Amino acid sequence: MDDLLYGTRDKRGDWRPRKRLEVAPFWDWPLSPGKLLRWFLGYVWPWNAFHMATALLYWCFVVPDIETMKVLSIGWALWLYAVNAAAIFTMYGAVELFYYVRRKQGSRFKYNTRFPSENPSDVFWFKSQNIDNFLRSFLISIPAWTVVEVLMLWCFANGFVPWLSWADHPLCLLFLVLAAPMIHEVHFFLIHRALHSPLLYKWVHAVHHNSINPSPWSSLSMHPVEAFAYHAVALWHLLLPSNPVVALFQLHVAGFGAINGHIGFDKLELTDEATLDSHAYAHYLHHRYFEVNYGGDGVIPLDKWLGTWHDGSAEGEAMMNERFRQKRERLNAGNTSRN
Ligand SMILES: [Zn+2]
Ligand SMILES: [Zn+2]
Repeated sequence: MDDLLYGTRDKRGDWRPRKRLEVAPFWDWPLSPGKLLRWFLGYVWPWNAFHMATALLYWCFVVPDIETMKVLSIGWALWLYAVNAAAIFTMYGAVELFYYVRRKQGSRFKYNTRFPSENPSDVFWFKSQNIDNFLRSFLISIPAWTVVEVLMLWCFANGFVPWLSWADHPLCLLFLVLAAPMIHEVHFFLIHRALHSPLLYKWVHAVHHNSINPSPWSSLSMHPVEAFAYHAVALWHLLLPSNPVVALFQLHVAGFGAINGHIGFDKLELTDEATLDSHAYAHYLHHRYFEVNYGGDGVIPLDKWLGTWHDGSAEGEAMMNERFRQKRERLNAGNTSRN
């Protein structure tokens, strides 16, 4: 497939999409029903539908029975860890295998033309971004995800929090399901913005940002504090009246959905004709420029409202550079007045 029909490639070989990132159309008045419908279909299909499917599979085949979950025990916690690890190994590993190891589409639609394996660096364990990111995912982030999962299920099983049934509250739960990716975006923005404060960045978030050119294994490569705070989004369902399946869906939007920002390709070629949109560009720009796009895709466009949105266009780049210039001036003025 010719990626130059959809974007441009610079001298280095880096590809960028021609279409700029857009916030969800319900923020754009007057509303356009056609745009809203297209946006809604893309919101549900395929990624969030996939996360819902995995949540249902977990509920039916993985999550232990209520009596077991009433008592905290290492047995069912290890079982959940094993399933989470196997699922991430399969899902992330498949993208890694086909697009990074076998490189089935070369660097077509790839934002950074280079592959992480080509750049050994001292910042990574064993000087390898892939090994470092892989080990951190399985030794740190997936355990943190499992801790959140166990806590959440234990609270539901013991009746510590309200458990709405699908039979009695279908509309309320459907609303929560549709809102879950938005809850994720707001939660992620808030913790992520805090992680960019100087101290937290230095001690916690720098681990994730070592991967300037992210790939699938970078998605969950986090410091333990960040890994817990990130997956703790599911604990909102202990405060809101909810249901464990919806809370699992929320957790899967975080755990399985982390790959979306780190795929590195704008589109994955599935066949000669069919492609899958990765929704990776906003977060790719965050890894490249650090102080833009703290949130997600612009469904709840906090970045836009707070002046940190980069839509991938030349204007977006100019706005970011102007903001960085003003920040440098403020810092210089502060240093001069202290001297
Ligand atoms: Zn990231
Ligand atoms: Zn960051």
